[in-house]
Amino acid sequence: MSKILIIEDEVAIAELEKDYLELSGFEVFMEHTGDAGLRAALKDGFDLIILDLMLPGIDGFEICRKIREKMNTPIIMVSARKEDIDKIRGLGLGADDYMTKPFSPSELVARVKAHLARYERLVGSGIKANEIIEIRGIKIDKTARRVYVNGEEKAFTTKEFDLLTFLAENPNHVFTKEELFNRIWDMESIGDIATVTVHIKKIREKIELNTSKPQYIETIWGVGYRFKV
Ligand code: CA
Repeated sequence: MSKILIIEDEVAIAELEKDYLELSGFEVFMEHTGDAGLRAALKDGFDLIILDLMLPGIDGFEICRKIREKMNTPIIMVSARKEDIDKIRGLGLGADDYMTKPFSPSELVARVKAHLARYERLVGSGIKANEIIEIRGIKIDKTARRVYVNGEEKAFTTKEFDLLTFLAENPNHVFTKEELFNRIWDMESIGDIATVTVHIKKIREKIELNTSKPQYIETIWGVGYRFKV
């Protein structure tokens, strides 16, 4: 029987979720503060966690981050505010799903079942979870070769993807254009290191809010580039 943890300070909501999940055959536990919720999540081997965002003590953002440092248990984050859902999506904390309250309990049950099934397939099949790099609003799925900026997928060419991934995997390290060219482009493409500049410009157009004030890839004048964290 799958064990589910509900971390929710509104007891009536938690009880309602619990009732519906129990009717569907799940074993359900509740915690009503952030601190107790985090402790339980890290220790008790739950199969799925339903996590409210606004909690007394440690909030849902921090709990999600702390859980993800240790485990891949599916997390469904819930919040009463649509803006908060958009914000957490953007932060790329690693939650698996997001729901805005109020939601129908049967919708919650359906999503819980879907995530448990997906997770079991993943674990059972021995396929490793996708290798993901997340830095602030940017999520790079190395396995699927996809890039998401604040939750929205952006199209990258092969070289743009390779260049962004290389920089993001080596944060705060300054690379010269020559170094980047040698790393990312094949040796036979005896080219022009100016292509690095062109690619950086294109990547910035996709990931930066304001390309003249880059928040991610910084130009270190006279040296090269670095991915700032
Ligand atoms: Ca709350």
